[in-house]
Amino acid sequence: MSLENVQDELEAERGPADVVCYAGGVQKQSANGVALKFGGSSLLGADRMLHAAGLVRAATRESRVTVVVSAMKGVTDHLLSIAHALAQGKLAYARREAELVLDLHLGVLNDLQLDEETNLRVRRELQLLGGDLLHEVPAHDRVAATAELFDRLASFGERLSARLFAAALEKLGVSAVPVTSSEFVLTCDTFRDAQPHLEQTRERGRAILLPLLEEGIVPVVTGFIGATSDGRITTLGRNSSDFSGAIIAHVVDADELVIWTDVDGIYTANPKESVEARLLHELSYDEAHALAASGAKVLHAKVLPLAAETEMVVWVRNTFNPLARGTRIGSPRLPRGSRATSQSPVQNFAKSPQQGSVA
Ligand code: ADP
Ligand code: ASP
Ligand code: MG
Repeated sequence: MSLENVQDELEAERGPADVVCYAGGVQKQSANGVALKFGGSSLLGADRMLHAAGLVRAATRESRVTVVVSAMKGVTDHLLSIAHALAQGKLAYARREAELVLDLHLGVLNDLQLDEETNLRVRRELQLLGGDLLHEVPAHDRVAATAELFDRLASFGERLSARLFAAALEKLGVSAVPVTSSEFVLTCDTFRDAQPHLEQTRERGRAILLPLLEEGIVPVVTGFIGATSDGRITTLGRNSSDFSGAIIAHVVDADELVIWTDVDGIYTANPKESVEARLLHELSYDEAHALAASGAKVLHAKVLPLAAETEMVVWVRNTFNPLARGTRIGSPRLPRGSRATSQSPVQNFAKSPQQGSVA
């Protein structure tokens, strides 16, 4: 998606914020808290950010909440196109596009209509980040477009959106701070597809996140990014913020991870492409893994092994239809007295004509 399209979609989104009431959200009070991950479409523009922040505020009334955010929709693609432009020596173009990325975020900040003091503070934060971004995109000198540079550039999407989302939460009276996950998500140095070292990530992450949670502050953590042991920024691969959500849920020992996206849950096929797609209400970890691994973009496949290992329940829910229950992924929950023979949704899926074409 080009930045122009992003801006068009943003324009289309403006208008009265449609705050939908949030019924229960994570279904029950959770002892260890919940992690809520918001995808790029849930964050595209001030209205959507405030709407998503409303869901977080409702969840904080029941549980400790850690938020994980993607970049606003289209921004990672755009940052990567800047990296490609640098590789091709199109320096002036790359520079202009980088300035547009910063302007887009400053525009969302304006639309959030924060009080003057917060607005100034967040503007300064965005401008500092923007300065770092522009530093990576020199107007005249050619730079080596390495995989490492691609990751450094791509990381700005989540770093910018986390600051805006924390500000949206503050506007709703929820104490929140942005946390850059490269401070604690330790990875190998396979840039653009880095693997996290879970044990060290957990230890380092707890030292940062638990004191915030204990103080009643919502950490707004960047998805997608980590860093090598010598501090170089990495990314966990495209669409990997869901995986970051699971990693961070594991770090804080959350009982549940909720992946907030733009459809009512996981379907037998992409509901935007197939009218025959049916919503799946309950999935085992293996069933969800099979769907994700076959290309269903709605959930990153790497979420499932970690969720299964840590027995974390994962929900996939619709930010724009929060009254819908969503898809639950976890160990089977059989109603008392029922027999373990009820047909699994993926058995139904296997009979569907959409089999093998869920992507
Ligand atoms: P987010 O920005 O929230 O991470 P994604 O675009 O990564 O959202 O994933 C959500 C999209 O996944 C949906 O809009 C839908 O078009 C697509 N999708 C593909 N396969 C499926 C499926 N089996 N069930 C639900 N959504 C699917
Ligand atoms: N922003 C990253 C991407 O577009 C990660 C994600 O959204 O899951 O790939
Ligand atoms: Mg996604």
